[in-house]
Amino acid sequence: MNRIAFLGPPGAGKGTQAAILATELGVPHLATGDLLRTAVAARSPLGLEAEKFMRAGELVPDGLVVDIVADRLGGDHGRSGFLLDGFPRTLAQGVSLDRIAPLDHVVAFEIPEGTLLERLTERRQCPKCGTVYNLKTVPPRVSGRCDRDGTELVSRNDDRPDAVRTRFRAYHEQTQPLVEFYQKRGILRRIDAVGDTATVAARVRAAVVD
Ligand code: AMP
Repeated sequence: MNRIAFLGPPGAGKGTQAAILATELGVPHLATGDLLRTAVAARSPLGLEAEKFMRAGELVPDGLVVDIVADRLGGDHGRSGFLLDGFPRTLAQGVSLDRIAPLDHVVAFEIPEGTLLERLTERRQCPKCGTVYNLKTVPPRVSGRCDRDGTELVSRNDDRPDAVRTRFRAYHEQTQPLVEFYQKRGILRRIDAVGDTATVAARVRAAVVD
């Protein structure tokens, strides 16, 4: 079964790889960060609650995020597979997910922190469709504009150095314990996330083939 989650620090390339693999497997790609950013942009009650945590680089409280995921994957929705990108991020979320839809594969992206900092500074995103670029390695065709819809690209406001430091700390303290959690269960595969997009995509594919 293709019930998959990606674990990895900020800037590891989870979003880029999730978009590729989800298309290949024909399963929905669920990125909690993107869903939260959409809620913030829409000024919905969820967005207003989440915004202060996100801006600081802190994790949004488990209850809010679990509700979003349960809404999308609860009941029959998650039966035929899905790709979670950015969820679970705490042990409590992992335990909740077991009740909603247990995972078949977890891919842990491994990458040195120096490379991550460089990637986050170069990262630009389309605020409309969510497509992610890297000014050095994956630049848009027209400088500063999204290839898909021509929207002006922006830096995420949590890619600032102070927020990035907080996000790394949140990853080490709250998310990394999940690596062991899934390792014990025998469904974790670690991949080397350094390399160009196609090279890493091949490693990810190999990690989820039964
Ligand atoms: P991302 O786009 O995955 O880097 O997520 C951006 C921000 O959204 C994170 O720094 C958190 O503030 C919040 N977020 C996304 N997913 C989660 C999650 N599973 N649990 C808590 N906060 C999350």
